[in-house]
Amino acid sequence: MTTYPLPTYADVEAAAARIDGFAHRTPVHTSRTLNELVGGEVFVKCENFQRMGAFKFRGAFNALSKFSPEQRTAGVVAFSSGNHAQGIALSAKILGMPATIVMPHDAPAAKVAATKGYGANVVVYDRYCEDREAIGKRLADEQGLTLIPPYDHPDVLAGQGTAAKELFEEVGALDHLFVPLGGGGLLSGTALSTRALAPQCVLYGVEPEAGNDGQQSLRSGAIVHIDTPKTIADGAQTQHLGHYTFGIIKRDVDDVLTASDAELVNAMKFFAARMKMIVEPTGCLGLAAVLGAKGSLQGKRVGVIVSGGNIDLDRFCALVAQDGAALRVSG
Ligand SMILES: *Cc1c(COP(=O)(O)O)cnc(C)c1O
Repeated sequence: MTTYPLPTYADVEAAAARIDGFAHRTPVHTSRTLNELVGGEVFVKCENFQRMGAFKFRGAFNALSKFSPEQRTAGVVAFSSGNHAQGIALSAKILGMPATIVMPHDAPAAKVAATKGYGANVVVYDRYCEDREAIGKRLADEQGLTLIPPYDHPDVLAGQGTAAKELFEEVGALDHLFVPLGGGGLLSGTALSTRALAPQCVLYGVEPEAGNDGQQSLRSGAIVHIDTPKTIADGAQTQHLGHYTFGIIKRDVDDVLTASDAELVNAMKFFAARMKMIVEPTGCLGLAAVLGAKGSLQGKRVGVIVSGGNIDLDRFCALVAQDGAALRVSG
């Protein structure tokens, strides 16, 4: 059996030093209305204000910073239609190395344009009859490129852990922390920082109700694979956790919760109306769980990581115009 030596908090600290001066130290926002709703004190770490609009820049930049001169010359390859692609493309541009991004033929034009805008070479594949992983690996073999996966990589997850490190450094220990969960890069990195800086904090991953593979995995003790879930949380449409990410999550995370699409829309509305922020559906997972926790956070200090804000304005407007989920805010 392959073993996966797990990264530690020292790797998060090293990542923090590497991204210093390149990634933003994102703000922590609060809302009196939110505190009243929850009956506690809520601290929102705003990775929607990170470079390229999501935390993914942290892990991508950390991973690329560690390339050898030979790896830098040949360049990086990644497969993603979303924020990981943009994180890799921007990091490669800053570090002056070529980047190849494998994207599905039906990826949103805006995302393809943004990735090309960072100077990346975009290779298109047909998501219904070609395997993006195989294409990525073939490009890596043929052209000597280094493949950086979106979550299951020690340098990627250590980079993602720097967001929670900053949060604890800014606001001190927390009683509860809620983190969006896809493949687990953000959650596992956050877990390393949490166990080092606020060991008593109850740490939750939050994933879409339609795809609760992380919840099933944590509760059963083995990685559970599912079909691509149908949800508006496109950043968390993963089919399974990774070996590194699950190794840490199993050890350090208290529980995995879920949020429905209607609850995500409700949280999007709250962020827009009350905190003047555009947050993408996946970025709303943490707040959705907090709003769903009812009275159980009374008197607690609660952290929420908002993971990203990348959403087309048309889609944002269409989602917040839905009246299926009433905005649970009074006054
Ligand atoms: C990638 C992504 C996630 C999920 O992160 P994982 O590391 O795959 O768990 C959550 N939110 C946003 C905005 C993302 O881009």
